[in-house]
Amino acid sequence: MKVLVVNCGSSSIKYQLVNMNDESVLAKGLVERIGIEGSVLTHQPAGKDKVVINAAISNHSIGIKLVIDALTDPKHGVISSMKEISAVGHRVVHGGEKFADSVLITPAVMKALEECIEMAPLHNPPNIMGINACSEIMPGVPQVAVFDTAFHQTMPKEAFLYAIPYEAYEKYGVRRYGFHGTSHKFVSQQVAELMGEKLSDLRIITCHLGNGASIAAIKNGKCIDTSMGFTPLEGLVMGTRSGGLDPAIVPFIMKKENLSADQVDNYLNKKSGVLGVSGVSSDFRDVEEAANAGNERAALALDLFAYRVRKFIGSYVAAMGGVDVIVFTAGLGENSITMREKIGNGLEFLGTRIDPAKNNVRGKAQEISVDGAKVKMFVIPTNEELVIARDTKAICGNLA
Ligand code: ADP
Repeated sequence: MKVLVVNCGSSSIKYQLVNMNDESVLAKGLVERIGIEGSVLTHQPAGKDKVVINAAISNHSIGIKLVIDALTDPKHGVISSMKEISAVGHRVVHGGEKFADSVLITPAVMKALEECIEMAPLHNPPNIMGINACSEIMPGVPQVAVFDTAFHQTMPKEAFLYAIPYEAYEKYGVRRYGFHGTSHKFVSQQVAELMGEKLSDLRIITCHLGNGASIAAIKNGKCIDTSMGFTPLEGLVMGTRSGGLDPAIVPFIMKKENLSADQVDNYLNKKSGVLGVSGVSSDFRDVEEAANAGNERAALALDLFAYRVRKFIGSYVAAMGGVDVIVFTAGLGENSITMREKIGNGLEFLGTRIDPAKNNVRGKAQEISVDGAKVKMFVIPTNEELVIARDTKAICGNLA
């Protein structure tokens, strides 16, 4: 069985074709600049040279069509016909309270996705466009939606409710949803496997540290709290997002800087975080380089980031009544030796310490805490595409 994994952004489509017999990636690629001049498809077939196709790609349908053409191309393709694609798995950002698991896409599901647009105005519309494009180009091929929010639906009410008038929850669905769920789920399963323990016996803190960053408390395999909230703005300091702050700052800055609601949203989502504090970049590599060269605000931004992560870890230890393992994942978590040190070096009180030799690792699943540590620390590369492919197979495997 071959599954096409699709992740649509507003102007991009990321894809992977996965052979579910051995979970190998047959090809992957990226369509960029949809609807913008200079649109391009970069297609990487396994074991062959990368192909770059420049074409006018004015919408997601044309993008998906080009992806299928690339996958079936006699020269750089990896399948002989579209019929070899048994199912399509889509990443969908927001499933609201309706979806606690991945689901086969039906007209009723599409209606529910439309209803979630209000809560994820930037993310859900391109996800829906991607699903419609696949239905149009591959009619009859089953499609599955895998939600960023689903894994966090097990949070208890005391963790997901905000202390504002209850009607805001009832009328508008204002509550904490959490995101990056697919990643938190994957790395928690992986770490249990690596430790040779049952997921249901473990208290795990997973730190997904990329441009977007979130942390989750996973007790006995179930998420009981996570740092992102109603939107992906809450919680940790991020590349360009503020993370948690005193809500009174919002009207204060609006008045002082004469900003509209949309402008202050942009200020907190795009101009804040590590970029806002350092004034250097949202990319942690640039900020680390600047800090090493003596830039004090860059160093401060990294300190702020690490401190916030450590504070969340402490609070999740309290929420779970202890912790057995802490996992670092995503771009920064998998690759930044110094950031893991900065975070991990404050956690000795828990009975854990980073082993500098073991921590000298990038992008590889490995324990990084000292031998015999009471609480273990691990690096686990995330693989959201694989989770999407697995869920799609689980749901569609018996349909054919
Ligand atoms: P997202 O999917 O949220 O865009 P990623 O998980 O791809 O983010 O992470 C991107 C971040 O990871 C970037 O800020 C990048 O600087 C950081 N990163 C990647 N490699 C390294 C590295 N070797 N050292 C430090 N930071 C890194």
